[in-house]
Amino acid sequence: MIRQYELVERVRAYDPRADEDLLNRAYVFSLKAHGTQVRASGDPYFSHPLEVAGILTQMKLDAASIATGLLHDTVEDTVATLSEIERLFGPEIAKLVDGVTKLSRIELQNTQAQQAENFRKLVLAMSEDIRVLLVKLADRLHNMRTLHFLNNIDKRRRIARETLEIYAPLAERIGVERWKDELQDLAFQELNPDARDSILAQLARRRREGEDRTRRVIEELRQKLAENQLPDASVTGREKSSYSVWLKLQRKNVTFEQLSDIMAFRIIVESTEQCYQALGIIHSSYPVVPGRFKDYISTPKSNGYRSVHTTVIGPDRERIEVQIRSQAMHDVAECGVAAHWGYKQGQPRADTPDYRWLRELLDILEHAQKPEEFLEHTKLELFQDQVFCFTPKGDLISLPRGATPIDFAYAVHSEVGDTCVGAKINGRMLPLRTQLQNGDQVEIITAKSQTPNPDWERFVITGKAKARIRRFLRLKQREQFASLGRAMMQKQFRQEGYEFTEKALEGVLKTFKAQSTEDIYASLGAGHLSSREVFNTIFPEHRAPVPDRDSRELRDIKPTSAPTKTKERSRGYDHALPIRGLIPGMAMHFARCCHPLPGDRIVGIVTTGKGVTIHTIDCETLDSFHDVPERWIDVSWDTDADQGDMHVGRVTVFVANQPGSLGSLSTVIGKNGGNISNLKITNRNRDFFEMLIDIEVRDSKHLNNILAALRATPVINAVDRARGR
Ligand code: MN
Repeated sequence: MIRQYELVERVRAYDPRADEDLLNRAYVFSLKAHGTQVRASGDPYFSHPLEVAGILTQMKLDAASIATGLLHDTVEDTVATLSEIERLFGPEIAKLVDGVTKLSRIELQNTQAQQAENFRKLVLAMSEDIRVLLVKLADRLHNMRTLHFLNNIDKRRRIARETLEIYAPLAERIGVERWKDELQDLAFQELNPDARDSILAQLARRRREGEDRTRRVIEELRQKLAENQLPDASVTGREKSSYSVWLKLQRKNVTFEQLSDIMAFRIIVESTEQCYQALGIIHSSYPVVPGRFKDYISTPKSNGYRSVHTTVIGPDRERIEVQIRSQAMHDVAECGVAAHWGYKQGQPRADTPDYRWLRELLDILEHAQKPEEFLEHTKLELFQDQVFCFTPKGDLISLPRGATPIDFAYAVHSEVGDTCVGAKINGRMLPLRTQLQNGDQVEIITAKSQTPNPDWERFVITGKAKARIRRFLRLKQREQFASLGRAMMQKQFRQEGYEFTEKALEGVLKTFKAQSTEDIYASLGAGHLSSREVFNTIFPEHRAPVPDRDSRELRDIKPTSAPTKTKERSRGYDHALPIRGLIPGMAMHFARCCHPLPGDRIVGIVTTGKGVTIHTIDCETLDSFHDVPERWIDVSWDTDADQGDMHVGRVTVFVANQPGSLGSLSTVIGKNGGNISNLKITNRNRDFFEMLIDIEVRDSKHLNNILAALRATPVINAVDRARGR
């Protein structure tokens, strides 16, 4: 365990003016507060905040951050309170401790939604003060270092996965490379120890075999630089981490033997000019491998990282990757934002990079409907490398790799994205789905009347673009539902012999927990409400008008009274028929064109010799019966008689023609309780399959749920009920 004076000495070594008294008081307070608590390792609990503070000193952070590291678990795990912290240590530290505490409080939750919520809070907290994130990352790093002491394997794996998916990418985002590497490695060790062991073994073997070679390369590079006026350049060889090798193996589908650049060489010089001078020396000494040169000095990564990367055919005719940077750039690469924050008055330096992505995350947060949606976007983004593109005016827009002009347009401005109709890339009109390359100059063509195209969602990759497009589609769908719902309501009124007025609905808004009549229409259109339900609520005393005596009697006789006929029914119901309004003794079929489901509005068409065929009210086949009104009979579902049978609904689907599409289609249907009973591909081309699918469901609402789930699936382009043809 680090002693009190050691901690203070460490801080004073890089910041002679650090508040020694503050550090001492925080040390003693935390030690007392945690008292006799112990960790899973058996160590006193206090060793944990102390180690966290120690990790923070390696980043040369200011005294307030170190004190926060010492105090970070006192409010959550001991009797200490936040107001006590504020009284003893002041508002700045209290705020930092509070930020870290809030994150811990929601950490031990399981579901995706909860995890997403955690992440949302994390982003909010760190957008206020990035030091909250630095302390949180140090906390997570120490917990990962001691993870093996936990007995619960599920818990261990969950923490490791969260580390890999959220904390390591965040460490990368703020440029703290060494934390990122260690977090990834520790998580990898927990999640896939076999793979890690075998990679480590192979790396060790290569190291033994290549030891001489590495030494030779370093020596030769150093010599070349010295011969050309850079005698003080430092040259080192650095092995890639086991996890980054693992990622490479997965991404490139190559074996370990085929991996070339296991080793990277790093040249550290004194100034930016010397970086380019060194680059010139390397490039004139060895053949350059095309396409591998990256200048992150003139175009820094969004986390502030600066270096020049190049790959050459090195001294012994093997490819070597070389990174060239100045000492100042090196500090930033190792410590990221911490190097900028430093100990200087607890204020970020003027050259702290602009954490634009933090603001973007917040923007997505505000517009994502569900936290899961947000998490999905964010995870995607955090894992991507960047491409850098330019506006025609030369403004730099950095995007994740694989981004398209639509992503670019949304990155410029939401308006530009919404109204985008085309794009010129380096002066040429190219399709909107084109993947942008580093250095592309992109000119977005807009038209005022344009609105986001649903297709875009399939190929955009930034969270901002996805969130905007989905938001627009939700609004548009709601409009469609509302106009459909309004028509349904008008029809219901007409059918019952009433004149439709919107006022009638205003009286029942509360009953349906609606803000406006528009809300009710939207629920009607979406199938969450039936127009009869709404009508009956408005007119509780109303009874359906009765045209004449005979038909009333018929209407009241349930087909159950003619049980002998059930065998003739095409569906073979062995109990009450689910349809009201049938003429007893007459056979009944469900139309194959529209596959009516309980909950659908339906009509019967009488065909001599065949009985009654039941269609949905919007079936297109009904067009051909317009001039024979005498064959139409008014029928409805008998919800009392329905005993939860499964019914077949038919849908038409457009699915992207790509591997796994059909798999996700059937998974979504299955997960939502539907059973595919028939499937027919009716049309196919390079991009899409069009198909008819019969799905066994309980009723129309059930099918609507499935349709909604399908619409939310990326590979599904369009899906709808079959409406006859
Ligand atoms: Mn902790």
